[in-house]
Amino acid sequence: MIKVEHIRKNFGQLHALKDVSLEVNQGEIVSLIGPSGSGKSTLLRCIHGLEKVDQGKIYMNGELMDPKDEKKYRQQRNKMGFVFQHFNLFPNMTVLENCNLAQIQVLNRSKEEAEKTSLTYLERVGLADKKDAYPNNLSGGQKQRVAIARALCMNPEMMLFDEPTSALDPEMIKEVLEVMKDLGKQGMTMIVVTHEMGFARKVGSRVVFLDHGEIVEDSPSEEFFSNPQSDRAKDFLSKVF
Ligand code: ADP
Ligand code: MG
Repeated sequence: MIKVEHIRKNFGQLHALKDVSLEVNQGEIVSLIGPSGSGKSTLLRCIHGLEKVDQGKIYMNGELMDPKDEKKYRQQRNKMGFVFQHFNLFPNMTVLENCNLAQIQVLNRSKEEAEKTSLTYLERVGLADKKDAYPNNLSGGQKQRVAIARALCMNPEMMLFDEPTSALDPEMIKEVLEVMKDLGKQGMTMIVVTHEMGFARKVGSRVVFLDHGEIVEDSPSEEFFSNPQSDRAKDFLSKVF
């Protein structure tokens, strides 16, 4: 579904991604893990087109993602849902309005159509009863579930998550991980930047371990956790467990 070929991304003198290649197949749940500053967010943002790569290519379903081919590029980007650490909900809009907005503006859905879809996904994340609430009146876990529902309203083919539970109080982490786990069970392709090693091990199918802008390991989850190959991964795991 996604093929990343030899991408490089620099911020001035800093090489945030150095020759990164990665393939993600349909239905896979890939956990992107690694130390802080290793390039996880940058990789995810490059895949989603929030950052432009300096070198290399990204393909979606076998087709090149080329920012110069604006219309097609936009369509390709719309097939990916992105969930941020800090939710990025619009505070001046209700939960329902947050979910409706891009459907109306980007997919040209009617308000009725959008609302119907929004309610379906709010129901799915257990928050239909909060449709008229404003984000500031929700808990962190609820906000993140709304953000996930909002992304799903666009009917993405895959979902990208950047530390979706890192800003949450511990008691709210589980409710968000449960929603993600359900999504995975329904066959959603996902790339998840996470520090939740339990999730990576039990729910994720594969681990991609990044360090200093390079993919150091790329292996099935169980293999990665039970038998990491590189010293860097071993060192990382010894610090988180
Ligand atoms: P991670 O998500 O693994 O913590 P990031 O992808 O955010 O790492 O960052 C990788 C490196 O790139 C870090 O050294 C970070 O400081 C740097 N970086 C990320 N975004 C920017 C930016 N917009 N401008 C300058 N440097 C950045
Ligand atoms: Mg990050």
